[in-house]
Amino acid sequence: ESKAAGRGRVTVFDEEMLSDKRYRRLVERELRAAVYLGELELHYQPIVNPDGSAYALEGLIRWRHPVRGLISPAEFIPIAERSTLIDMLGEWVFKRACADVGHFPGRRISINVSGEQLKRDEIVTMCDRVLRETGRSATQFIIEITETVATAATPETLRRLEALRGLGFHIALDDFGTGHCGFNYLKTLPIDSIKIDRSYIRSLAHDQVAQIFVSALAQIARIQDVTIVAEGVETQEEFVLARAAGCNRFQGYFFSRPAPRDKVAPLRSIDAEPLAQSA
Ligand code: C2E
Ligand code: MG
Ligand code: MG
Ligand code: MG
Repeated sequence: ESKAAGRGRVTVFDEEMLSDKRYRRLVERELRAAVYLGELELHYQPIVNPDGSAYALEGLIRWRHPVRGLISPAEFIPIAERSTLIDMLGEWVFKRACADVGHFPGRRISINVSGEQLKRDEIVTMCDRVLRETGRSATQFIIEITETVATAATPETLRRLEALRGLGFHIALDDFGTGHCGFNYLKTLPIDSIKIDRSYIRSLAHDQVAQIFVSALAQIARIQDVTIVAEGVETQEEFVLARAAGCNRFQGYFFSRPAPRDKVAPLRSIDAEPLAQSA
């Protein structure tokens, strides 16, 4: 039994399977077919303002496998990243987001882009082409890249990020605090927002270092004109503490779990009752 299964999650593809090259090929073939068979789904989770109104929705991919059930992206994205299959999935995600963005008037959709995709110019040409094909504007979208990608960024990667930003996309730095991003990076990276990893949000209630880290980041962000998003907010207490520390936006199970497009709960409008008094 795997470690992940012990945490109440079923691991579909374990390490042993993936170290077997033939098995990996098989999963890759199945994943490629999944695109055509319509087995992929993009679920959405709101990113909210301090008053609880929805600012954007993050699109999170899932694979509804006919035999293995609903598979988490943590399981199959790493497999896709081993080849240009990730480009194919990335295009599927962006097309899906373009098709769905009209269902959430006035809200942006945030999509996750793999560091592997940023290694090729295809990311820029694909986004540009899909926007033209669908008649959408890049200003309706946010592209999330992980902190690891940003710190390992080559001049070419940075040029691609600048190009995407030039098209009108907002760029968000995902899972901040888990990698090695020094505060000095924040000056040079072409980003519009920083998403603080949920491990920091979880620590706010009992760890003064986490509070100071988040507050300092929020102060720097204000100077750099960058927005701070608190990820993985699960309780009202975490929400109040993250807001007190200076976070501008919030995302997590406390507000809503990711859900299929048509099951996303009605989004709160700006004039709704406040969710909590500030601390
Ligand atoms: P991420 O981009 O950091 O997304 C946030 C993850 O945290 C999601 O997991 C989300 O369901 C989960 N989450 C949200 N709120 C809470 C909370 O309050 N508590 C807890 N414990 N978790 C929360 P998910 O959907 O399993 O996605 C995992 C990762 O897979 C994502 O992390 C992202 O890195 C990657 N991913 C998801 N969709 C895509 C995609 O379309 N393309 C690429 N390249 N990667 C994707
Ligand atoms: Mg993300
Ligand atoms: Mg994240
Ligand atoms: Mg993550």
